[in-house]
Amino acid sequence: MRIVLLGPPGAGKGTQAGMISKKKNLPHISSGNLLREAVESGTSVGVKANGYIEKGLLVPDLIVVDIIKDRILKNDCTSGFILDGFPRTLAQARVLDEMLLGLNNKIDIVIYMTASKESIVKRLSGRRICSGCGANYHVSYVPSLRNGICDKCGGKLNQRSDDKPETILERLRVYRDQTEDLVRYYRKNGILKEISCENNIEAITKNILDVLCRSSL
Ligand code: AMP
Repeated sequence: MRIVLLGPPGAGKGTQAGMISKKKNLPHISSGNLLREAVESGTSVGVKANGYIEKGLLVPDLIVVDIIKDRILKNDCTSGFILDGFPRTLAQARVLDEMLLGLNNKIDIVIYMTASKESIVKRLSGRRICSGCGANYHVSYVPSLRNGICDKCGGKLNQRSDDKPETILERLRVYRDQTEDLVRYYRKNGILKEISCENNIEAITKNILDVLCRSSL
């Protein structure tokens, strides 16, 4: 089962990909996480990507596509995966389709997660990530027990540098400009299912699982 989660930053793609990954036993592939790992390890890809990420701009297609291709070719992806944050441009979607076709596969379903601009800004600006284990929190919706400290590992909670208000607005602008073409592309292919993400996390997961079930996935 090959699933793409599509939607603006802050729609909850990472959270939902994590939930669906556990339920369906599929690897969760986040292009943002792969890029941040490259930045942290100081690889040449990471150095190139960092400037774009910090400004809220998209990393050039060639860089991201290579990272994703390598990941999809790993053994744990043979029976499927959940893509979160990739593709983000029409060019990326076409490369992905071509690559999968070469492997006699295809994307089965694209879950299009929608949310209002107000809830997106609220979610992103309150998001905190553990510097130790990567766990996600939110200052209002999913607070840690001790302020600024991870419940799971005691690590320090940080705000992602691209979750600052000015960068959030730039990321939303980039999303509108570049990613909305994808909605048309996948809708035309007949595999797009839209889900409103204004609900709580569990209700959204249930909706996504229902959609997968109705599509016999
Ligand atoms: P995310 O964690 O998905 O919000 O991604 C964080 C940042 O990584 C984005 O703002 C982009 O700079 C970069 N990024 C992630 N995925 C992609 C992609 N598919 N194409 C280009 N840039 C990406």
